[in-house]
Amino acid sequence: MTADPGEGPHVRHVLGAYVLDALTTGETRTVSRHLQSCDRCAAAYVEVAEAASLLALVRPEDLLE
Ligand SMILES: [Zn+2]
Repeated sequence: MTADPGEGPHVRHVLGAYVLDALTTGETRTVSRHLQSCDRCAAAYVEVAEAASLLALVRPEDLLE
């Protein structure tokens, strides 16, 4: 394993919740900051965001019922 750029652990595991705006304010800030410094997570974020837009039938409002 080579050293990764950016700060803190990778955030791929929470990108789904991040896209759905289901994280706490602090978590959201941590993820967005990491995405700015980590190309790999940023690329993963784009994929998750695109997938989420394809799942437009499932809205956060529905999940938070
Ligand atoms: Zn990362």
